[in-house]
Amino acid sequence: PVIDPDTLLDGMNPQQREAVVHAGSPLLIIAGAGSGKTRVLTHRIAHLLAARHVQPGEILAITFTNKAAGEMRERVEALVGPRAKAMWVSTFHSACVRILRRESKRLGFTSSFSIYDAADSQRLMALVCRDLDLDPKQFPPKSFTAKVSNLKNELIDEDTYAAKAENPMERKLAEAYALYQRRLREANALDFDDIIMTTVNLLQAFPDAAEHYRRRFRHILVDEYQDTNHAQYMLVRELTGGASGQGPKKTVDGEFVNPAEAQLAEIPPAELCVVGDADQSIYAFRGATIRNILDFEEDYPSATTILLEQNYRSTQTILTAANSVIERNSNRRKKNLWTAGAEGVKIVSYVADDEHGEAQFIADEIDKLSDKGDAKPGDVAVFYRTNAQSRVFEEVFIRVGLPYKVVGGVRFYERKEVRDVLAYLRVLANPEDAVPLRRILNVPKRGIGDRAEAMIEALASRERISFPQALLRVDEAYGMAARSANAVKKFNDLMAKLRGVVESGAGPAAILEAVLEETGYLAELQTSTDPQDETRVENLQELAAVALEFEQEEPVEGPDGEPVTQPGLPGFLERVALVADSDQIPDEDGEGRGVITLMTLHTAKGLEFPVVFLTGMEDGVFPHMRAMTNAKELEEERRLAYVGLTRARERLYLSRAVLRSAWGQPSYNPASRFLEEIPVTLVDERRTAAAAGPSGFGSRAGGSGLGGSRLGGSSAGGGSGFGSSQSGRRSGPAAGWGKSAGRMNDRPMVTLAVGDRVTHDRFGLGTVVSVTGPADDAKATIDFGAEGTKQLLLRYAPVEKL
Ligand code: ATP
Ligand code: MG
Repeated sequence: PVIDPDTLLDGMNPQQREAVVHAGSPLLIIAGAGSGKTRVLTHRIAHLLAARHVQPGEILAITFTNKAAGEMRERVEALVGPRAKAMWVSTFHSACVRILRRESKRLGFTSSFSIYDAADSQRLMALVCRDLDLDPKQFPPKSFTAKVSNLKNELIDEDTYAAKAENPMERKLAEAYALYQRRLREANALDFDDIIMTTVNLLQAFPDAAEHYRRRFRHILVDEYQDTNHAQYMLVRELTGGASGQGPKKTVDGEFVNPAEAQLAEIPPAELCVVGDADQSIYAFRGATIRNILDFEEDYPSATTILLEQNYRSTQTILTAANSVIERNSNRRKKNLWTAGAEGVKIVSYVADDEHGEAQFIADEIDKLSDKGDAKPGDVAVFYRTNAQSRVFEEVFIRVGLPYKVVGGVRFYERKEVRDVLAYLRVLANPEDAVPLRRILNVPKRGIGDRAEAMIEALASRERISFPQALLRVDEAYGMAARSANAVKKFNDLMAKLRGVVESGAGPAAILEAVLEETGYLAELQTSTDPQDETRVENLQELAAVALEFEQEEPVEGPDGEPVTQPGLPGFLERVALVADSDQIPDEDGEGRGVITLMTLHTAKGLEFPVVFLTGMEDGVFPHMRAMTNAKELEEERRLAYVGLTRARERLYLSRAVLRSAWGQPSYNPASRFLEEIPVTLVDERRTAAAAGPSGFGSRAGGSGLGGSRLGGSSAGGGSGFGSSQSGRRSGPAAGWGKSAGRMNDRPMVTLAVGDRVTHDRFGLGTVVSVTGPADDAKATIDFGAEGTKQLLLRYAPVEKL
């Protein structure tokens, strides 16, 4: 469909229009919540395509989550049709991974490098600290992981840091950082922070690589700019070109030091458009810096700034509440959100006896809203400060039968069984990757203990080979018991066999199936009597469904013919590694219809819901305990409150519990100070009879009057069914592994004889040369002509007899 550029501007206010059509100089749109920043970005892209004849391939749009990227692509596609597919709309991480896959050789990686997530990084750092004999009390690996992450976000590499490390603590950190990086390189792996830092390094070190991307991306757009950290800031700067203080090095005579840089300097800077709201900056703890917004005009002296103040999301009541909370922060640009819309209903506040009462109130209220036709469960979101708070809501919602979905928390991809199986896949994709290899060495238990592992490690350092290589040379491991050595050999055989499956051309789903069967992992869960193991089987089913879905996706190609996602096992693993929390938010029209969304305030950024419950409004919970004695952190918590309040379109509920048991320790928490910052006139106060204390609104009396509260005994008991919200989401092709099922799929195995003609999904037509082995484990040698002669495991290979 060809859109009329003018209709793109229909219904937009003058500032929004200006932002959509602005051409040339860098553009900063700095505006309050719900003022249409994201909408402006989307329309700007459509306008570039429709009115300014920009090619989709010239556009790079950065969003905060994969989910947001998908939505933006969809909206642009609805406006301009399928050519939107060639745009890069992605998160910082996905965009950088794409660049790195293409450029990996320059950096000494292979393009199938692994991506370590936070848990992998922790594990690797723990191994590193152990190797360095660091006392975990004095030098906790966890804090080292966090510090290394901060350094990378500041683009400080291990050598730079080592050169300026001063005290013993810093020197130990420098040592650990260096070894950690070495191990990553040996494993052909990058951690999450490396992905950004390495891309920046690449663009700075290789002017011709920078030139390629600068010629390609003529328009760069960034959403949620307030949450970029320094590394991300530099990335945008390198890709755009043309910021002040940048530019190639010149000699005193004005000659370029590096001729390739002279070429680069001739490319006019890309058009840059960033949108953000300093009041919504909530990732300082991850190195995000408001400075990036505040300094934008300085770094890009020709920049144009546009302010948006009209809000299109919330009622005036909600906006006034949000304005009066955020006003308490110092050092902010004053802005005043307003709406042409209705005043709306009052904000409801509720004080419960305890957290069970709070959850019960919310469940009752959602029931009432749907009975009256005011809202459906799918319109409702429940927010909390920390993941652990979701449990009580889950208990109550399960008991009363309200459909819900937890976003984040123990995320699907963080579940043990999912990580175990993915670790197998990762080793199959990248045999040198020691971290997942060590994870699965003895999972399921096969008699390879810590001692045996230590001996392999000793062999590796003695022979100066990697751990995976040492594992294959187990016979040389000094002093290992024969039983352990045998177990290692059996493990090596198992992995060789699985590698055979990969080489047979099987797709990710079939490989996953082979792993579950050949390792005995699935059988162990299926014969277990632990009810949780049933949930685990469901989760693995879910994973198999994800793999199958991935396989069945049509490959998307960019304008230059390069695939947007890699196919096969590496592509699947890349996809999995890059999923963020918000990818699990149910789609409005899809499978998640009518489901209440539970999530942390951090995850809620950028989203909107007709009905919002902000829970745990207690000092010590929200604001978080940690922030209460630190003015800066308290301001960040207040911005988080502002984010939470401004997600609501029509109805907003603020609730708290007088008595809350956290980690089994009951505590009486006073009302959150943020409640006090909301004018009483906006609030409809409801409370239980027992909780006689002040609600907290407008009266900072300190949450006394607690004596009358009673201990509610409404716990739903038992942890049954948790996580079940994850399963059943897809009930697809992989469903139906009964407890008794021996094999997961009942695809009849092909039997072949010498001379048979076959087709293979990937290798095409072939002729059987020989067949060996027992029926259940038969291997066929097949001549595929130009594709070569392959050994295939018939049970998993995608072959058919002609
Ligand atoms: P946040 O700060 O929370 O990210 P935002 O500034 O990105 O918010 P959007 O999500 O783009 O705001 O817009 C908020 C809501 O207002 C959306 O539902 C959007 O469709 C709607 N909206 C924005 N501008 C207009 C407009 N001119 N006319 C009608 N609706 C609008
Ligand atoms: Mg937005």
